[in-house]
Amino acid sequence: MKQTLYLISIFILTTSFNPKSWGFFGHKRINRLAVFTLPQEMLPLFKTEIEYLTEHAVDPDRRRFVVPTEGIRHYINLDKWAFLPQEKVDAQILHTDIFVVGEKRDTSLLVDFQTIRKQKRDYYLKSKSIKKIFGRDSIVVTDSSFRRFFFNNLSKIQPDEPLSISPDSLLSFFKKEKLRPLSTAENGGIKAVFAKDKLSQHGILPYHLQTIYRQLVQAFVSKNKNLILKYAAELGHYLADAHIPLHTISNYDGQYSNQNGIHAFWESRLPELFADNQYDFFVGKAGYIEQPRSYFWNIINQSNRLSANTLRIEKEVSAQFEVDKKYCPEMVNGFEVQKQCFDFAKAYHDRLGGMVEEQMRRAILAVGSVWYSAWVDAGQPDLSNLKNTPLSKEEEKEQKEADEKIKNGGKILGRTEAY
Ligand SMILES: [Zn+2]
Repeated sequence: MKQTLYLISIFILTTSFNPKSWGFFGHKRINRLAVFTLPQEMLPLFKTEIEYLTEHAVDPDRRRFVVPTEGIRHYINLDKWAFLPQEKVDAQILHTDIFVVGEKRDTSLLVDFQTIRKQKRDYYLKSKSIKKIFGRDSIVVTDSSFRRFFFNNLSKIQPDEPLSISPDSLLSFFKKEKLRPLSTAENGGIKAVFAKDKLSQHGILPYHLQTIYRQLVQAFVSKNKNLILKYAAELGHYLADAHIPLHTISNYDGQYSNQNGIHAFWESRLPELFADNQYDFFVGKAGYIEQPRSYFWNIINQSNRLSANTLRIEKEVSAQFEVDKKYCPEMVNGFEVQKQCFDFAKAYHDRLGGMVEEQMRRAILAVGSVWYSAWVDAGQPDLSNLKNTPLSKEEEKEQKEADEKIKNGGKILGRTEAY
C-alpha cells in the first residue's frame, strides 16, 4: 500500500505539470535563441541573463496553478467571433453587458452586443431599457465619451465576475450627450448598475500581448532590471503561443473533430523529435516594429490561417496508420507513457512541409524584435548598469505558491482549455 501511494505521488509529481504551448522545450528554446537576434547594446543585460530568460519562459504556464484568470491570456478562439476590434477598449465596449437595477429591484439589460452598433465614430444604443430610461428608441454616444466612461469605471472588470459601478457615473456619462433620464430627474430611478465581461470568454491573447508590451516599455524606462527580465521572459512566452495555430481556434485539441491530443502532438512532440537535428534557427537580426498592436494581430491571423491545414493533414495522415502503429510506449521519468510513434510523427511532420519549423523561426524573430522595439520605445536606456530591484512581496508569494502547487500535484485553476 505504502509502495503504491509512493508510486502514485511520484506519478503525480512527474506528470501533473505538463504545460502545452511549445512545451518546456519550445518556450525555453525560443526565448534563448531570441537573445542572439538583439543588437550589441542590449547584450549586457540579455546575454548575461540568458539563463533567466530561458528558465522563466514558462512562468505564465506555471501561474495558471495560482491565478484563475491566467488561462485566457494564452489563446484566442477567433472562430467564435465575426469581428473583433484590434484595441482592447473598443472590443470591450462592444462585448460588455451593462445592467441597471430599478427602484423595484428589477434588473434590466441596458447595453450588450445586440443593442449596440458602431457607426463611424459614434455608438448607437437601442434597447427596452434605453426607451424606459430616456423615453427614446435609441440614443447616440460618441466614441470618446464611451472610452472615457470605460477607462474611468470598467478598467478593473474581471472575467466571470460582475462589476458594480456607481449609478451616478452612468448618468453623468449620458448627461454629457445632453440626455436626461426620465422619472425622478436626479437618479433616473436607477438604484444600481453592474457590468459583465463577455470579451474574455474566448481568450484575450492579442490584447494581453499589448498590455505586457506596455509594461515592458515602462520597465525599460524605469531601468528596473527585475521587471525588464520578468516582462521580457513573459512576453516571449505569450508571443510564442501566438505562433501556434491551435491557440487561435476553439477546436484547440481536435476535441470536436475526433483528433484529441493533436495540440501536444503539433507543438511538443514534433519539435522535440525534429528541432534539434533538422531545424535551421538562424533567423537574422531583430527589427523595429512600428505598430506593435497590428503586428500582434497579424501574427495571430497568420497562425489562424494555418489551423485548417494543421487539423486536415493530421486527419489524412492518421487514416494511413493502424492504431498500434500510431502510439508507441516511451519512458518518461521512469514511467511508460504512450506517445506518437516516430514514423507516424515523421509522416505528419513531412506533410506539414516545414510549418512547425517556420512558426518556431518566426516566433524567435518576433520575440527578439519585440524586446528590441520596447527598448527603443523606452529611449534606448543604457542596460550596462541597472539597479537590482527585488520582486514585490506579492510576486514573490505568487511564485512560491506556484512552486508549492506544482510540487504537490496541484490543479490548474480557472479555464483549462488551451495553454
Ligand atoms: Zn502558454
